[in-house]
Amino acid sequence: MKLTFETIELPTKHAFNIAREAAPRTRRSVLVRIEDRDGVEGWGEAPATPYYGETAETVTAIMPHLSAVAARAAGGDLFALERIETALERSIGRNPAARVAVSMALHDLLGKRLGVPIWKLWGLDPAEAPRSSFTIGIDQPEVMRQKVREAAGYDILKIKVGTPRDREVLQMIRDEAPEKTIRVDANTAWTAKEAIRRIPMLEEYGVEFVEQPLKPDDLEGLRLVRRRSRLPIIADESCEVAADVARLAGAVDGVNIKLAKCGSLREAVRIVHAARAHGMSVMIGCMVESTVGIAAAVQLAPLVDYADLDGAALLANDPFSGPGLADDGSLRFNDDPGLGVTRA
Ligand code: MG
Repeated sequence: MKLTFETIELPTKHAFNIAREAAPRTRRSVLVRIEDRDGVEGWGEAPATPYYGETAETVTAIMPHLSAVAARAAGGDLFALERIETALERSIGRNPAARVAVSMALHDLLGKRLGVPIWKLWGLDPAEAPRSSFTIGIDQPEVMRQKVREAAGYDILKIKVGTPRDREVLQMIRDEAPEKTIRVDANTAWTAKEAIRRIPMLEEYGVEFVEQPLKPDDLEGLRLVRRRSRLPIIADESCEVAADVARLAGAVDGVNIKLAKCGSLREAVRIVHAARAHGMSVMIGCMVESTVGIAAAVQLAPLVDYADLDGAALLANDPFSGPGLADDGSLRFNDDPGLGVTRA
């Protein structure tokens, strides 16, 4: 196998801020391309996220190492995905975005060799995929109003909260979009006490659920909030890999999977099963990333209850086309083999 990689710049249409950080206007992803000896290629993307300890630089710095480990573990058989992914994980520990880029590229390549899309390889039915939300980042209320108007086609909005203006923002959203489903994401902004105080206000505005109200490790706090709140609580920053699901059982109602947190498509499926075994709901989310990363998450969307796969829709230009978020909020699949993505 031959692995090559390049860093790409992804400018967003608008500033996209959340409670725990003001984010740069242009994101950087590392694109990975793996080619087998017959010239079949697979694509993957590492949307490196500093919060999880990665940057485009850390990804490109370890990619030659990952390439060597993958080639050695494959031993000429690129279908040996469990063996290859286990070797990658053992060789560097975390670095989930870097590893998932290799995972995506290998799955894309495998699907192309077999002539089937990944969703079909996994026995999934695209009709089972939920509609996706579209996220409105934190901004001045008038800018947020403009974003809500631009999102007119989407039935489900995910609102970033965690500022003193949350009520004002929710009132504005309800004025603009009285019928839409609203979910909120506090991105670790609150203490348990603050969350318990604020959630009744969210209920007033008909919010469906609350994502990550507290700090990632505050499991006791999450347990307390869940007991005292009528809205379901979904863990995002608290849940990176399948092993986190067992810790979170009883403390939250569901988990939000992101490929760039869990490090592989196969680990994402393990999270789904771990969560189901605990009677928890499952969401699949994304980073701000191109259609390569979004297409990989779309393949697994028939397994989940909630989708938030708007990462590529937030971009000013996307270097790839393929599966992703349609203008009406449904998830668009295709029958092309592998991830089904094409470089523009
Ligand atoms: Mg989140």
